[in-house]
Amino acid sequence: MLRPSPRLLLLLPTVTYRTVAFVEAARRLGVDLTVASERPSTFEQANPTGLVTLDFADPARAAGQARAFARRHELHGVVAVDDDTAVVAAAIAEELGLRGNPVAAAAAARDKHQQRQRLAAAGVAVPRFELLTTAADSERVAGRASYPCVLKPLRLSASRGVVRADDAAGFVAAFQRLTAILEQPDVARCGDWARQILVEEFVPGREVAVEGLVTQGVLTVLAMFDKPDPLDGPFFEETIYVTPSRLARAVQRDIAVCVQAAVGALGLREGPIHAEVRHNDRGAWLIELAARPIGGRCSGALRFEIREAGNGKRETSLEEIIIRHALGMELPTLEREHQASGVMMIPVPGAGVLRDVRGVGEARKVPLVEEVVITAHRGQTLVPWPEGSRYPGFIFARGGTSEAVEAALRAAHAQLEFLTEPAD
Ligand code: ADP
Repeated sequence: MLRPSPRLLLLLPTVTYRTVAFVEAARRLGVDLTVASERPSTFEQANPTGLVTLDFADPARAAGQARAFARRHELHGVVAVDDDTAVVAAAIAEELGLRGNPVAAAAAARDKHQQRQRLAAAGVAVPRFELLTTAADSERVAGRASYPCVLKPLRLSASRGVVRADDAAGFVAAFQRLTAILEQPDVARCGDWARQILVEEFVPGREVAVEGLVTQGVLTVLAMFDKPDPLDGPFFEETIYVTPSRLARAVQRDIAVCVQAAVGALGLREGPIHAEVRHNDRGAWLIELAARPIGGRCSGALRFEIREAGNGKRETSLEEIIIRHALGMELPTLEREHQASGVMMIPVPGAGVLRDVRGVGEARKVPLVEEVVITAHRGQTLVPWPEGSRYPGFIFARGGTSEAVEAALRAAHAQLEFLTEPAD
Protein backbone atom coordinates (compact mmCIF):
# COMPACT_ATOMS: atom_id res chain seq x y z
CA MET A 1 0.00 0.00 0.00
CA LEU A 2 1.20 3.50 -0.81
CA ARG A 3 2.16 5.46 2.29
CA PRO A 4 0.16 8.71 2.46
CA SER A 5 2.17 11.93 2.20
CA PRO A 6 3.01 13.57 5.49
CA ARG A 7 0.85 16.55 6.35
CA LEU A 8 2.29 19.81 7.67
CA LEU A 9 0.33 22.45 9.53
CA LEU A 10 1.65 25.91 8.63
CA LEU A 11 0.57 28.71 10.95
CA LEU A 12 0.14 31.94 9.04
CA PRO A 13 -0.37 35.05 11.14
CA THR A 14 -1.68 37.38 8.46
CA VAL A 15 -2.84 37.18 4.91
CA THR A 16 0.03 39.42 3.87
CA TYR A 17 2.71 36.96 4.91
CA ARG A 18 4.48 35.54 1.90
CA THR A 19 3.73 31.83 1.66
CA VAL A 20 5.10 31.04 -1.79
CA ALA A 21 8.40 29.66 -0.54
CA PHE A 22 6.66 27.31 1.91
CA VAL A 23 4.13 26.17 -0.68
CA GLU A 24 6.88 25.49 -3.23
CA ALA A 25 9.04 23.65 -0.70
CA ALA A 26 6.11 21.48 0.40
CA ARG A 27 5.31 20.59 -3.19
CA ARG A 28 8.93 19.67 -3.93
CA LEU A 29 8.97 17.39 -0.90
CA GLY A 30 5.61 15.80 -1.66
CA VAL A 31 4.25 17.15 1.61
CA ASP A 32 0.55 17.98 2.02
CA LEU A 33 0.04 21.43 3.46
CA THR A 34 -2.71 22.67 5.74
CA VAL A 35 -2.59 26.42 6.23
CA ALA A 36 -3.96 27.67 9.52
CA SER A 37 -4.99 31.26 9.97
CA GLU A 38 -6.85 33.14 12.64
CA ARG A 39 -9.69 34.33 10.46
CA PRO A 40 -12.08 31.94 8.77
CA SER A 41 -11.54 31.86 5.04
CA THR A 42 -14.37 31.59 2.56
CA PHE A 43 -12.27 28.95 0.82
CA GLU A 44 -12.20 26.72 3.88
CA GLN A 45 -15.36 24.81 3.00
CA ALA A 46 -14.15 24.22 -0.52
CA ASN A 47 -10.80 23.00 0.76
CA PRO A 48 -11.36 21.46 4.21
CA THR A 49 -8.00 19.68 4.33
CA GLY A 50 -5.98 22.65 3.08
CA LEU A 51 -7.30 25.38 5.35
CA VAL A 52 -8.25 25.59 8.99
CA THR A 53 -9.07 28.41 11.39
CA LEU A 54 -7.27 28.46 14.74
CA ASP A 55 -7.53 30.96 17.58
CA PHE A 56 -3.96 32.26 17.56
CA ALA A 57 -4.73 34.58 20.48
CA ASP A 58 -5.28 31.55 22.74
CA PRO A 59 -2.59 28.89 22.19
CA ALA A 60 -4.33 26.26 24.39
CA ARG A 61 -7.59 26.71 22.49
CA ALA A 62 -5.76 26.61 19.16
CA ALA A 63 -4.15 23.32 20.24
CA GLY A 64 -7.60 21.88 20.94
CA GLN A 65 -8.82 23.02 17.53
CA ALA A 66 -5.75 21.46 15.91
CA ARG A 67 -6.50 18.20 17.74
CA ALA A 68 -10.04 18.19 16.36
CA PHE A 69 -8.66 18.78 12.87
CA ALA A 70 -6.04 16.06 13.30
CA ARG A 71 -8.75 13.50 14.11
CA ARG A 72 -9.98 13.95 10.55
CA HIS A 73 -6.63 14.51 8.84
CA GLU A 74 -3.55 13.29 10.60
CA LEU A 75 -0.89 15.99 11.15
CA HIS A 76 2.81 15.10 11.18
CA GLY A 77 4.43 18.46 11.80
CA VAL A 78 3.75 22.10 12.63
CA VAL A 79 5.63 25.23 11.57
CA ALA A 80 5.26 28.83 12.74
CA VAL A 81 6.58 31.88 10.96
CA ASP A 82 6.38 34.65 13.55
CA ASP A 83 6.73 35.23 17.30
CA ASP A 84 3.05 34.83 18.18
CA THR A 85 2.44 31.73 16.13
CA ALA A 86 5.65 30.23 17.54
CA VAL A 87 3.87 29.91 20.88
CA VAL A 88 0.79 28.44 19.18
CA ALA A 89 2.99 25.95 17.30
CA ALA A 90 4.59 24.90 20.59
CA ALA A 91 1.15 24.32 22.15
CA ILE A 92 0.03 22.26 19.14
CA ALA A 93 3.27 20.26 19.11
CA GLU A 94 2.83 19.46 22.82
CA GLU A 95 -0.82 18.51 22.31
CA LEU A 96 -0.21 16.26 19.30
CA GLY A 97 3.22 14.93 20.23
CA LEU A 98 4.91 16.61 17.27
CA ARG A 99 8.41 18.04 17.03
CA GLY A 100 8.50 21.45 18.64
CA ASN A 101 9.47 23.64 21.55
CA PRO A 102 8.06 23.54 25.07
CA VAL A 103 5.34 26.20 25.34
CA ALA A 104 7.15 27.92 28.22
CA ALA A 105 10.30 28.26 26.11
CA ALA A 106 8.49 29.73 23.11
CA ALA A 107 6.55 32.09 25.40
CA ALA A 108 9.74 33.27 27.11
CA ALA A 109 11.36 33.89 23.73
CA ARG A 110 8.41 36.01 22.60
CA ASP A 111 8.41 38.35 25.59
CA LYS A 112 11.47 40.59 25.69
CA HIS A 113 11.37 41.00 29.48
CA GLN A 114 10.93 37.31 30.26
CA GLN A 115 13.67 36.58 27.78
CA ARG A 116 16.07 39.01 29.49
CA GLN A 117 15.25 37.53 32.92
CA ARG A 118 15.93 33.97 31.78
CA LEU A 119 19.09 34.83 29.94
CA ALA A 120 20.49 36.96 32.76
CA ALA A 121 19.73 34.22 35.30
CA ALA A 122 21.61 31.73 33.14
CA GLY A 123 24.64 33.99 32.81
CA VAL A 124 24.16 34.83 29.12
CA ALA A 125 25.58 38.28 28.30
CA VAL A 126 22.61 40.65 28.00
CA PRO A 127 22.32 44.39 28.64
CA ARG A 128 21.18 45.55 32.09
CA PHE A 129 17.44 46.04 31.99
CA GLU A 130 14.52 47.40 33.95
CA LEU A 131 10.79 47.00 33.43
CA LEU A 132 8.55 50.08 33.71
CA THR A 133 4.87 50.66 33.17
CA THR A 134 3.61 53.36 30.85
CA ALA A 135 2.14 54.98 33.99
CA ALA A 136 5.63 55.51 35.48
CA ASP A 137 6.87 59.04 36.16
CA SER A 138 9.26 59.22 33.20
CA GLU A 139 11.04 62.35 34.46
CA ARG A 140 11.91 60.68 37.73
CA VAL A 141 13.13 57.51 36.02
CA ALA A 142 15.08 59.64 33.52
CA GLY A 143 16.91 61.27 36.43
CA ARG A 144 18.34 57.98 37.67
CA ALA A 145 18.78 56.11 34.35
CA SER A 146 22.23 55.41 32.83
CA TYR A 147 22.93 56.65 29.30
CA PRO A 148 22.83 55.78 26.50
CA CYS A 149 19.89 53.45 26.93
CA VAL A 150 17.20 51.87 24.77
CA LEU A 151 13.47 51.89 25.41
CA LYS A 152 11.41 49.16 23.79
CA PRO A 153 8.04 47.45 23.83
CA LEU A 154 7.83 43.88 25.12
CA ARG A 155 6.32 42.19 22.12
CA LEU A 156 6.37 44.22 18.94
CA SER A 157 8.75 43.19 16.17
CA ALA A 158 10.86 44.60 13.33
CA SER A 159 12.27 47.23 15.73
CA ARG A 160 8.90 48.97 15.94
CA GLY A 161 8.95 51.25 18.95
CA VAL A 162 12.64 50.68 19.78
CA VAL A 163 14.23 54.06 20.63
CA ARG A 164 17.63 55.09 21.98
CA ALA A 165 17.94 57.88 24.53
CA ASP A 166 21.21 59.69 25.27
CA ASP A 167 20.11 61.89 28.15
CA ALA A 168 17.19 62.63 30.45
CA ALA A 169 15.39 64.85 27.94
CA GLY A 170 15.79 62.16 25.28
CA PHE A 171 14.47 59.57 27.72
CA VAL A 172 11.29 61.52 28.43
CA ALA A 173 10.72 62.11 24.71
CA ALA A 174 11.33 58.44 23.85
CA PHE A 175 9.05 57.34 26.69
CA GLN A 176 6.23 59.50 25.37
CA ARG A 177 6.76 58.39 21.80
CA LEU A 178 6.77 54.72 22.70
CA THR A 179 3.75 55.14 24.96
CA ALA A 180 1.86 56.69 22.02
CA ILE A 181 2.73 53.65 19.88
CA LEU A 182 1.55 51.31 22.63
CA GLU A 183 -1.70 53.24 22.83
CA GLN A 184 -2.48 52.73 19.15
CA PRO A 185 -5.61 50.56 19.03
CA ASP A 186 -3.96 47.63 17.18
CA VAL A 187 -1.38 47.40 19.96
CA ALA A 188 -3.31 48.50 23.05
CA ARG A 189 -5.80 45.66 22.81
CA CYS A 190 -3.08 43.00 22.73
CA GLY A 191 -2.70 42.67 26.50
CA ASP A 192 -0.95 43.91 29.60
CA TRP A 193 2.42 43.93 27.90
CA ALA A 194 1.20 46.93 25.88
CA ARG A 195 1.29 48.95 29.13
CA GLN A 196 4.92 48.12 29.83
CA ILE A 197 8.26 49.42 28.62
CA LEU A 198 11.63 47.74 28.85
CA VAL A 199 14.60 50.04 29.41
CA GLU A 200 18.02 48.61 28.61
CA GLU A 201 21.62 49.66 28.59
CA PHE A 202 22.65 50.47 24.99
CA VAL A 203 25.19 47.89 23.81
CA PRO A 204 27.64 49.38 21.31
CA GLY A 205 29.32 47.25 18.67
CA ARG A 206 28.87 45.40 15.40
CA GLU A 207 25.58 43.61 14.98
CA VAL A 208 24.93 40.34 13.20
CA ALA A 209 21.83 38.27 12.60
CA VAL A 210 22.11 34.54 13.13
CA GLU A 211 19.82 32.12 11.35
CA GLY A 212 19.86 28.72 12.96
CA LEU A 213 18.15 25.40 13.39
CA VAL A 214 17.82 23.75 16.79
CA THR A 215 17.63 19.98 17.05
CA GLN A 216 17.30 18.38 20.48
CA GLY A 217 18.46 21.65 21.99
CA VAL A 218 21.61 21.84 19.86
CA LEU A 219 22.06 24.82 17.55
CA THR A 220 23.30 24.54 13.99
CA VAL A 221 24.17 27.95 12.55
CA LEU A 222 22.74 28.08 9.03
CA ALA A 223 23.95 31.59 8.23
CA MET A 224 25.47 34.59 9.94
CA PHE A 225 24.60 37.94 8.36
CA ASP A 226 26.68 41.06 8.85
CA LYS A 227 24.76 44.30 9.11
CA PRO A 228 27.29 46.68 7.58
CA ASP A 229 25.32 49.89 8.28
CA PRO A 230 25.83 51.09 11.85
CA LEU A 231 22.74 50.54 13.97
CA ASP A 232 23.36 53.24 16.54
CA GLY A 233 19.87 54.65 16.68
CA PRO A 234 17.97 56.62 17.70
CA PHE A 235 15.74 54.23 15.69
CA PHE A 236 16.70 50.79 14.44
CA GLU A 237 15.31 50.26 10.97
CA GLU A 238 17.32 47.47 9.35
CA THR A 239 19.02 47.95 5.98
CA ILE A 240 21.62 45.56 4.59
CA TYR A 241 22.17 41.92 5.56
CA VAL A 242 25.14 40.14 3.92
CA THR A 243 26.43 36.63 4.42
CA PRO A 244 29.00 35.14 4.86
CA SER A 245 30.05 37.32 7.75
CA ARG A 246 33.32 39.16 7.40
CA LEU A 247 33.96 39.00 11.13
CA ALA A 248 36.98 37.02 12.30
CA ARG A 249 36.35 33.29 12.81
CA ALA A 250 36.97 33.55 16.53
CA VAL A 251 34.36 36.32 16.81
CA GLN A 252 31.86 34.25 14.83
CA ARG A 253 32.55 31.37 17.19
CA ASP A 254 31.90 33.61 20.22
CA ILE A 255 28.63 34.70 18.67
CA ALA A 256 27.53 31.12 17.98
CA VAL A 257 28.42 30.12 21.55
CA CYS A 258 26.36 33.04 22.87
CA VAL A 259 23.32 32.05 20.78
CA GLN A 260 23.63 28.40 21.83
CA ALA A 261 23.74 29.51 25.47
CA ALA A 262 20.60 31.57 24.92
CA VAL A 263 18.82 28.63 23.26
CA GLY A 264 19.68 26.50 26.28
CA ALA A 265 18.67 29.19 28.79
CA LEU A 266 15.27 29.61 27.18
CA GLY A 267 14.77 25.86 26.89
CA LEU A 268 14.21 25.85 23.13
CA ARG A 269 14.48 22.30 21.77
CA GLU A 270 13.41 22.11 18.12
CA GLY A 271 13.04 24.36 15.12
CA PRO A 272 14.34 27.52 13.49
CA ILE A 273 15.73 30.49 15.44
CA HIS A 274 16.65 34.01 14.42
CA ALA A 275 18.95 35.98 16.71
CA GLU A 276 20.39 39.49 16.81
CA VAL A 277 23.79 39.61 18.49
CA ARG A 278 26.20 42.49 19.08
CA HIS A 279 29.93 42.10 19.45
CA ASN A 280 32.35 44.52 21.07
CA ASP A 281 35.60 44.40 23.03
CA ARG A 282 33.70 42.76 25.90
CA GLY A 283 32.51 39.89 23.71
CA ALA A 284 29.16 38.77 22.29
CA TRP A 285 25.87 40.17 23.63
CA LEU A 286 22.52 38.62 22.98
CA ILE A 287 20.14 41.37 21.86
CA GLU A 288 17.28 39.15 20.84
CA LEU A 289 16.47 35.51 20.12
CA ALA A 290 13.26 34.55 18.32
CA ALA A 291 11.91 30.99 17.94
CA ARG A 292 11.09 31.47 14.28
CA PRO A 293 12.87 31.94 10.97
CA ILE A 294 13.94 35.26 9.43
CA GLY A 295 10.97 37.30 8.14
CA GLY A 296 9.16 36.27 4.94
CA ARG A 297 10.95 38.04 2.10
CA CYS A 298 14.45 38.01 3.53
CA SER A 299 14.68 34.23 3.56
CA GLY A 300 15.10 34.58 -0.22
CA ALA A 301 18.70 35.58 0.49
CA LEU A 302 19.41 32.06 1.73
CA ARG A 303 20.04 29.02 -0.44
CA PHE A 304 21.43 25.73 0.67
CA GLU A 305 23.01 22.82 -1.12
CA ILE A 306 21.47 19.45 -0.77
CA ARG A 307 23.19 16.23 -1.80
CA GLU A 308 20.80 13.40 -2.46
CA ALA A 309 21.83 9.82 -3.13
CA GLY A 310 21.87 9.31 -6.90
CA ASN A 311 20.56 12.81 -7.68
CA GLY A 312 23.76 14.78 -7.22
CA LYS A 313 23.53 18.30 -5.84
CA ARG A 314 20.62 20.69 -5.92
CA GLU A 315 19.75 23.97 -4.30
CA THR A 316 17.15 24.29 -1.64
CA SER A 317 15.48 26.96 0.45
CA LEU A 318 15.37 27.70 4.15
CA GLU A 319 11.68 26.79 4.03
CA GLU A 320 12.50 23.28 2.76
CA ILE A 321 14.94 22.78 5.62
CA ILE A 322 12.34 23.95 8.14
CA ILE A 323 9.68 21.63 6.72
CA ARG A 324 12.03 18.65 6.62
CA HIS A 325 13.02 19.28 10.21
CA ALA A 326 9.43 19.70 11.44
CA LEU A 327 8.41 16.42 9.83
CA GLY A 328 11.49 14.54 11.00
CA MET A 329 12.55 13.97 7.39
CA GLU A 330 16.18 13.40 6.59
CA LEU A 331 18.30 16.57 6.46
CA PRO A 332 21.07 15.64 4.05
CA THR A 333 23.23 18.74 4.55
CA LEU A 334 22.98 22.16 6.10
CA GLU A 335 25.64 23.88 4.02
CA ARG A 336 24.80 27.28 2.65
CA GLU A 337 25.67 27.81 -1.02
CA HIS A 338 29.23 28.98 -1.74
CA GLN A 339 28.25 32.40 -3.13
CA ALA A 340 27.95 35.47 -0.98
CA SER A 341 24.41 36.72 -0.71
CA GLY A 342 22.65 39.75 0.63
CA VAL A 343 19.39 41.59 0.98
CA MET A 344 18.65 45.24 1.52
CA MET A 345 15.48 46.14 3.33
CA ILE A 346 14.85 49.39 1.48
CA PRO A 347 14.68 52.28 3.95
CA VAL A 348 11.44 54.24 4.18
CA PRO A 349 12.28 57.41 2.22
CA GLY A 350 10.17 59.58 4.53
CA ALA A 351 6.63 59.91 5.80
CA GLY A 352 4.05 60.34 3.07
CA VAL A 353 1.81 58.71 0.54
CA LEU A 354 3.69 56.77 -2.12
CA ARG A 355 2.96 58.08 -5.61
CA ASP A 356 5.57 56.34 -7.72
CA VAL A 357 8.87 54.50 -7.64
CA ARG A 358 11.35 55.26 -10.39
CA GLY A 359 14.57 53.54 -11.38
CA VAL A 360 13.49 49.96 -10.66
CA GLY A 361 14.58 48.83 -14.16
CA GLU A 362 17.98 50.48 -13.71
CA ALA A 363 18.37 48.98 -10.24
CA ARG A 364 17.68 45.50 -11.66
CA LYS A 365 20.41 45.97 -14.24
CA VAL A 366 23.11 46.54 -11.61
CA PRO A 367 25.52 43.58 -11.85
CA LEU A 368 24.98 40.90 -9.14
CA VAL A 369 21.51 42.19 -8.38
CA GLU A 370 19.00 39.35 -8.73
CA GLU A 371 15.76 40.92 -7.66
CA VAL A 372 14.27 44.28 -6.76
CA VAL A 373 10.82 43.95 -5.23
CA ILE A 374 8.73 46.96 -4.37
CA THR A 375 6.15 45.73 -1.90
CA ALA A 376 4.59 49.11 -1.12
CA HIS A 377 1.81 50.05 -3.51
CA ARG A 378 0.85 53.41 -4.94
CA GLY A 379 -1.34 55.28 -2.50
CA GLN A 380 0.14 53.48 0.51
CA THR A 381 1.11 55.65 3.46
CA LEU A 382 4.76 55.12 4.30
CA VAL A 383 5.49 55.33 8.00
CA PRO A 384 9.12 55.72 9.15
CA TRP A 385 10.47 54.06 12.29
CA PRO A 386 9.85 53.93 15.22
CA GLU A 387 6.10 54.09 14.56
CA GLY A 388 6.38 52.11 11.32
CA SER A 389 7.67 48.62 10.72
CA ARG A 390 7.17 47.97 7.01
CA TYR A 391 9.87 48.34 4.40
CA PRO A 392 8.73 49.60 1.00
CA GLY A 393 10.71 46.87 -0.74
CA PHE A 394 13.72 44.59 -0.90
CA ILE A 395 16.82 44.22 -3.08
CA PHE A 396 18.60 40.87 -3.42
CA ALA A 397 22.12 40.29 -4.74
CA ARG A 398 24.55 37.40 -5.04
CA GLY A 399 28.21 37.33 -5.97
CA GLY A 400 31.72 36.15 -5.30
CA THR A 401 32.34 38.17 -2.14
CA SER A 402 30.36 39.88 0.60
CA GLU A 403 32.04 43.18 -0.33
CA ALA A 404 30.84 42.91 -3.93
CA VAL A 405 27.31 41.99 -2.83
CA GLU A 406 27.13 44.91 -0.42
CA ALA A 407 28.37 47.32 -3.12
CA ALA A 408 25.78 45.98 -5.57
CA LEU A 409 22.95 46.47 -3.07
CA ARG A 410 24.03 50.07 -2.46
CA ALA A 411 24.40 50.77 -6.18
CA ALA A 412 20.94 49.39 -6.90
CA HIS A 413 19.42 51.39 -4.07
CA ALA A 414 21.04 54.57 -5.44
CA GLN A 415 19.04 54.05 -8.66
CA LEU A 416 15.70 54.13 -6.86
CA GLU A 417 13.66 57.27 -6.44
CA PHE A 418 10.53 57.24 -4.29
CA LEU A 419 8.02 59.96 -5.05
CA THR A 420 5.79 60.73 -2.11
CA GLU A 421 3.22 63.32 -1.15
CA PRO A 422 2.46 64.50 2.35
CA ALA A 423 -0.31 62.48 3.99
CA ASP A 424 -3.48 64.42 4.89
P1 ADP B 1 12.57 43.69 17.55
O1 ADP B 1 12.22 42.35 18.07
O2 ADP B 1 11.39 44.60 17.41
O3 ADP B 1 13.43 43.66 16.33
P2 ADP B 1 14.89 44.15 19.24
O4 ADP B 1 14.88 44.06 20.69
O5 ADP B 1 15.54 43.02 18.49
O6 ADP B 1 13.42 44.41 18.71
O7 ADP B 1 15.60 45.52 18.84
C1 ADP B 1 15.69 45.94 17.49
C2 ADP B 1 17.07 46.46 17.20
O8 ADP B 1 17.35 47.56 18.07
C3 ADP B 1 18.21 45.49 17.42
O9 ADP B 1 18.43 44.68 16.30
C4 ADP B 1 19.36 46.41 17.73
O10 ADP B 1 19.93 46.92 16.54
C5 ADP B 1 18.70 47.53 18.48
N1 ADP B 1 18.76 47.30 19.93
C6 ADP B 1 17.78 46.79 20.70
N2 ADP B 1 18.18 46.71 21.98
C7 ADP B 1 19.43 47.18 22.03
C8 ADP B 1 20.40 47.38 23.07
N3 ADP B 1 20.11 47.08 24.33
N4 ADP B 1 21.60 47.90 22.72
C9 ADP B 1 21.89 48.23 21.45
N5 ADP B 1 21.02 48.09 20.44
C10 ADP B 1 19.82 47.57 20.71
